Amino acid sequence: MRISPRLALNNGVMIDRLGFGLYKVPSADTSGLVTMALEAGYRHFDTAAMYGNETGVGKAVGALSAFDGSAGGGAETAPSLRREDLFITTKVWNEDHGYDATMRAFDTSISNLGLEYIDLYLIHWPCAKRGLYPETYRALETLYREGKVRAIGVSNFQPAHLDRLLDTAEVVPAVNQIELHPWLQQAELRGKHEALGIRTEAWSPLGRGQVLQDPVILALAAEHERTPAQIILRWHLQLGNIVIPKASSYARIRENHNVFGFELSGTDMADVAALERGFRTGSHPDNVN
Ligand code: NDP
Repeated sequence: MRISPRLALNNGVMIDRLGFGLYKVPSADTSGLVTMALEAGYRHFDTAAMYGNETGVGKAVGALSAFDGSAGGGAETAPSLRREDLFITTKVWNEDHGYDATMRAFDTSISNLGLEYIDLYLIHWPCAKRGLYPETYRALETLYREGKVRAIGVSNFQPAHLDRLLDTAEVVPAVNQIELHPWLQQAELRGKHEALGIRTEAWSPLGRGQVLQDPVILALAAEHERTPAQIILRWHLQLGNIVIPKASSYARIRENHNVFGFELSGTDMADVAALERGFRTGSHPDNVN
């Protein structure tokens, strides 16, 4: 089984470049899907308080630590892993902005997950009109200093939100998780992240499935004898992004993980770069408050 290569965050913590996204995964299906993804080689899982499935992630992870490989017991299909082999991200939801509310929301999340620490804790959306994200981030900094999270970051932050945050932040966010795929390439934000030492994490990396039908992607898939999803994920990896595709069947989960054995050429990368069209599958951050 091939495990995703890792990348260092700005505090030295290592993150798997390819993770598994859990948005819209029903709570009851989550544990089974996480176990399937573990079998396929994923070690990095992206959940959020808002997804309502942290408990399911915790169940799958708890089943691992219960037998820890060496004891030889536990679920027959679960691979032998330790907690430190996994990378678990969760996020504070919009209603919980503000220092105290965020501290409480974190307690709920970590309890739902049944973990002693979280690898990456993100502010889900800036909710800029409410203007509480600097306070919210201060809570994340406290959690980081207390060792309850190994890294902290943001999601859906636009350049102006990052600027404002960095006016008061003491810890530079490790990650900004943003919508990013061939039809929304986020060149400005990627450049800003690079300058600031923030890793770019792509949500809806497949454009929620819609970009899979793009004729240029289909042509590259035929040329490389790969699937459209594999072409898009490979493009992300070569661009330097962290990616967290979501899929619901074992075949797709495996397919999306099998992206380390081929390379796109410079011309291929340029062909995908030309697909930018400012298309969003989700909300614009200015419209979420
Ligand atoms: P993705 O771009 O990952 O696309 C998922 C869709 O593509 C699903 O409909 C899935 O179908 C389909 N799909 C996946 N793999 C394949 C394949 N190999 N062939 C054909 N179809 C495929 O979209 P998401 O919006 O789920 O984004 C991924 C993750 O990003 C989320 O799960 C979440 O963790 C995160 N996210 C974060 C946000 C934020 O605000 N921070 C917002 C949105 C997402 P099926 O499920 O039927 O297999």
